[in-house]
Amino acid sequence: MIQAKAYAALSPDTNLEPWNFERREIGPHDVQIQILYCGVCHTDIHFTRNEWFPGVFPMVPGHEIVGRIIATGNHVRKFKIGDAAGVGTMVDSCRHCGDCTTGHENFCQEQTVYTYGGTGKDGQPTYGGFSDTIIVHEDFTFHISEKLNLAATAPLLCAGITMYSPLRKWKVGAGHKLGIVGLGGLGHMGVKFGLAFGADVTVISTSAGKEAAARKLGAHHFVVSKDEEQMKSVFHSFDFIIDTVSADHDINPYIGLLKTNGAYINVGLAAKPWEISSFSLAIGNKTVTGSGSGGLKETQEMLDFCADQNIVSDIEMIDMKDINNAFDRMEKGDVRYRFVIDMATL
Ligand code: NAP
Ligand code: ZN
Repeated sequence: MIQAKAYAALSPDTNLEPWNFERREIGPHDVQIQILYCGVCHTDIHFTRNEWFPGVFPMVPGHEIVGRIIATGNHVRKFKIGDAAGVGTMVDSCRHCGDCTTGHENFCQEQTVYTYGGTGKDGQPTYGGFSDTIIVHEDFTFHISEKLNLAATAPLLCAGITMYSPLRKWKVGAGHKLGIVGLGGLGHMGVKFGLAFGADVTVISTSAGKEAAARKLGAHHFVVSKDEEQMKSVFHSFDFIIDTVSADHDINPYIGLLKTNGAYINVGLAAKPWEISSFSLAIGNKTVTGSGSGGLKETQEMLDFCADQNIVSDIEMIDMKDINNAFDRMEKGDVRYRFVIDMATL
């Protein structure tokens, strides 16, 4: 077994703290990665605090992992020692179901093995990237371009693909008006991809204080969702709205902002189910839909697109010991726009 260090939640009611554990031996198709950076996703808060369902503890969160290959199994062909590599929200799947064979390993009908909080094919719990090292099958490991800042690349592995995938699926681009609800880790990547694809981008935020920063990101317009007049000014104006909100909220005011035939794409994972009026969808042929991360092929495509277009996340680097404070700041929407842990500080 391989010794690993981490920060873990030992229970849903306690802060994350240092924890040592063992990772599996390197199999023939596995790579071992020295983790250099790991992004902090709001999902890490939902999961470690049991906001969705009871988790398995100790829990080592982290699914925006970037590092270097330090060992390879005998049959590994995709990577060599020293390569930059990334791991996102999943580390395995069945590989033969209808979803796995069509690029949706993230929705595997038998078993998507999540990077943490899941159960590996060896029956052991999986532990994520708030750790010094991880062992992953090469197929679930991505190439990371050396052209990009490695730390700022880490959030692409979840926040990046989660926004890229629905924008691509819905073919959002020039001539479309796109609204992004919530300017956090996911939201700011939505702004970047929306701009890269040629859309007219509006940030719809609860935080009036984020306007200057949103415009600096390149957003064309900024709407404060708590301001009725501002909301009225964009009524019936969007082709697409992507909702990235992490907290329980009413989406009906936002649905009113869609044009006829507009689509409301939800990626945020607030726990409380929505109530939506049937009239608000019927009148205007509106669609409410969802999107969850992305498959292997599309994730590598997104990373290559980012390398080509020089797109990375705007980050605030933190030491591992400051993770609990970072969680608290995220709960208050106080992050521009993604915390990334410098794993050298573990
Ligand atoms: P984050 O950085 O904390 O950003 C969330 C943003 O939501 C905040 O910055 C805030 O933006 C807005 N917000 C917070 N409370 C709100 C409220 N009560 N009403 C309206 N807006 C509110 O979180 P994140 O990492 O981007 O993740 C966002 C959500 O997506 C989480 O639920 C996460 O679990 C989920 N997620 C889903 C997927 C997927 O595959 N679908 C992948 C990753 C994450 P403003 O200040 O601008 O209002
Ligand atoms: Zn995530």
